[in-house]
Amino acid sequence: MPAPYKDRFAGKKVLVTGASQGIGEATALRFAEEGAQVALNGRKEDKLIAVRDRLPKVSGGEHPIATGDISREEDVKRLVADSIKAMDGLDVLVCNAGYQIPSPSEDIKLEDFEGVMAVNVTGVMLPCREVIRYWLETNQQGTIIVNSSVHQIIPKPHYLGYSASKGAVGNIVRTLALEYASRGIRVNAVAPGAIVTPINMSWINDPEQYKAVAGHIPMKRPGESREIADAITFLAAEDSTYITGQTLYVDGGLTLFGDFEKNWSS
Ligand code: NAD
Repeated sequence: MPAPYKDRFAGKKVLVTGASQGIGEATALRFAEEGAQVALNGRKEDKLIAVRDRLPKVSGGEHPIATGDISREEDVKRLVADSIKAMDGLDVLVCNAGYQIPSPSEDIKLEDFEGVMAVNVTGVMLPCREVIRYWLETNQQGTIIVNSSVHQIIPKPHYLGYSASKGAVGNIVRTLALEYASRGIRVNAVAPGAIVTPINMSWINDPEQYKAVAGHIPMKRPGESREIADAITFLAAEDSTYITGQTLYVDGGLTLFGDFEKNWSS
C-alpha cells in the first residue's frame, strides 16, 4: 500500500533502531517513502543493506547503515554520532528494537531477565540520552517515538522481563517528555497489539493459533507493521505538534477489555 502522504518528511533525518525487519523496517520504509533520509540500526550489516536496497532513494543522500547493539553504551555513542555526521543532522529518533524470552516466572534465568531489560529499557535510554544531548548542544528541537507494547499495561504471564521492560518504557517516555517539553523536544510511545512480524510467524503460520489470536482482538485480526508505522510517523509529523508524553495504543481494541463486549457481569 503506498504512503498516504507525499513528502511529509522531505529534508528530515531519522534514526530507527532495530530496522532490519518487522515494525522497524516498515517504519524506515514509511519515512523514506515520505522523503526522509533514514539511518538504519541493527546488529547485522548485511540485513540492513538489504533493507536499504528496498527503500526509495531520497534527495538528501544515501540512507546510512548504523550497525551496533543498542544495549551497549559504546555502540550507541558511536552509531548516533555516525548517523548525525552522515546525515548532517537528526530530527527524529525511533526507539524500536526489542525482544522477549518466555519462561515461567519461578524459573526465569537472571541472564534472560537482564538481557531483555538491557535491550528494551537501556536500549531506549541510551539513544534517547545521546540524541537529546545533541539537540540541546545544537539548540534544536526534535521528536522521539518509542515502540512499547500493550504489555505496558496488560500483564503478560511467562514474560516477566518483557512486561517489566514495557512498563518501564512508559515511564521513560513520560519522564523525558516532562523534562524536555520546554526545550521543544517531544517524546511519545506507540503500543502495538498483536502484529504480523517475523517474530510471530509460529502463530501466523498455524491456522488454529491464528484463529485463537484473532479471536481475542475486538477487530478480529492482527495488525500489520505498516499500521504501526502509520502511528509512529503521525507522532513524528507536523500533525502532532502539541502531543507529548503519551502512549498511543495501536491494537485493534485489545486494551478495551474485549471480554466485556457482551455483558456477563451484571
Ligand atoms: P522483530 O524481532 O521482527 O524486530 C526487532 C528488531 O530489533 C530486529 O531488527 C532486531 O535485529 C532488532 N534488535 C534486537 N535486539 C537488538 C539490539 N540489541 N540492538 C539492535 N537491534 C536489535 O520484532 P518486531 O515485532 O518488529 O518488534 C519491534 C518492536 O515492537 C519491539 O520493541 C517489540 O517489543 C514491539 N512490539 C511488537 C509486537 C508484535 O506483535 N510484533 C507487539 C507489541 C510490541
